[in-house]
Amino acid sequence: MTFTLTPVRCCHVCGCTETNACAGGCWWIGPDLCSACGRDSRQNPAHGDRVTVGTETREVERVNGDQVIYSWPGVVAVRTLRLAAWRAWAANATGWTSEPNKGAAA
Ligand SMILES: [Zn+2]
Ligand SMILES: [Zn+2]
Repeated sequence: MTFTLTPVRCCHVCGCTETNACAGGCWWIGPDLCSACGRDSRQNPAHGDRVTVGTETREVERVNGDQVIYSWPGVVAVRTLRLAAWRAWAANATGWTSEPNKGAAA
């Protein structure tokens, strides 16, 4: 398998780029995935997501309304944060998971 590096960052789902964003605007939520085409765990966490800020990695157990229930992998403790607080914390993320929207054209 050969990878070809291109100078232009491009969403692999819709093909938008830095200079040609989706209608309404979008931002990068993955190396080649834009916010219009996928779910960003920093903004919309779901079960199984992992977000890292610095040396701290949190794994989402579940989301209940505006409550995010999460744990530290390997640690039993489970904590709860309001969604707004989760987003504020995740805004500084150095690593996070994202996934294409269900049904998005590949
Ligand atoms: Zn896209
Ligand atoms: Zn886009």
